[in-house]
Amino acid sequence: MRSVQVSQPGMPFLVSNTDRPAPGKKQVLIRVSACGICHSDVFVRDGLFPGLSYPRVPGHEVVGVIEKTGEAVLAWKVGDIVGVGWHGGHCFECDSCRKGDFILCEHSRVTGISFDGGYAEYMVSPEEALARVPDGMAKELAAPLLCAGVTTFNALRHSGAVAGDLVAISGIGGLGHLGIQFASKMGLHTVALSSGKEKEALARSLGAHDYIDLSSGDAVTALNKMGGAKVILVTAPNSELASRLVDGLSPNGNMVLVGVDANPLSVSPLQLIGGRKRISGWPSGDAKDSEETLRFAHQAGVRPMVETYPLEEAEKAYQVMISNKARFRVVLTL
Ligand SMILES: [Zn+2]
Ligand SMILES: [Zn+2]
Repeated sequence: MRSVQVSQPGMPFLVSNTDRPAPGKKQVLIRVSACGICHSDVFVRDGLFPGLSYPRVPGHEVVGVIEKTGEAVLAWKVGDIVGVGWHGGHCFECDSCRKGDFILCEHSRVTGISFDGGYAEYMVSPEEALARVPDGMAKELAAPLLCAGVTTFNALRHSGAVAGDLVAISGIGGLGHLGIQFASKMGLHTVALSSGKEKEALARSLGAHDYIDLSSGDAVTALNKMGGAKVILVTAPNSELASRLVDGLSPNGNMVLVGVDANPLSVSPLQLIGGRKRISGWPSGDAKDSEETLRFAHQAGVRPMVETYPLEEAEKAYQVMISNKARFRVVLTL
């Protein structure tokens, strides 16, 4: 089968001919239809994740059809359309797993990092990492929802915001363009924050009710004029901006970080104590979260904006993604 591998950290993606893998007892073989390219694939590309072994096939936004099931797999059958996201399985035995909090498993595995992912014609996945893809959902639109989608959807639905609350989405990129759509479809008063007047039309077309241009005027003042944000979902990787925006939270407001910046946040305890405000983070979600993300998106009409490339052009597609030229998710189609 054709697969795209990283042979060593820092090396370009290489299209190779490899043996089709065989599923173990509690695994399935998937014929891949589409796989998103995520910024986190840089971990594989540049060897930034502890314990990585090479060669490795990246890809954790996988959609495909089950071709074969392991002998102990009961819940899935050949022909099922499934997705596999970042969360690539768990141990069922640690304290988090015993509570059903699989995403926080102490021994969790990551698709395309702990084992080969979806930049290939076929991949093997543990059954507990499978999400059902709704009938009729376009594969290239489902793929990015398995990482960028579940991250924003899950972060929002656990943020404490309820219908009608003011929710600000900072950043309109791979995560933010989905965050705006999810927030709006959840019935939240959705305010998009980005730099430049020209982003406003896009933000509103995605469902934002209001737009704050960070390059003109003070976003904190603007948010406070609206009563303050119950939730600020930070998708833009900009810790300096996030630190400033804390003062735009309403009392009991929650800043939820999903965008990653190497710099520390700089916030005084006084900014949080008086209004009982908090700053939190959110990881992606497990397979059931992914399934619920896909179902909500399909029902509500949340659609990632994607650029598609054939598997053979993985290197070119990755360069488009990593140089921030994509609008907004890049997906390999097979
Ligand atoms: Zn990802
Ligand atoms: Zn566990």
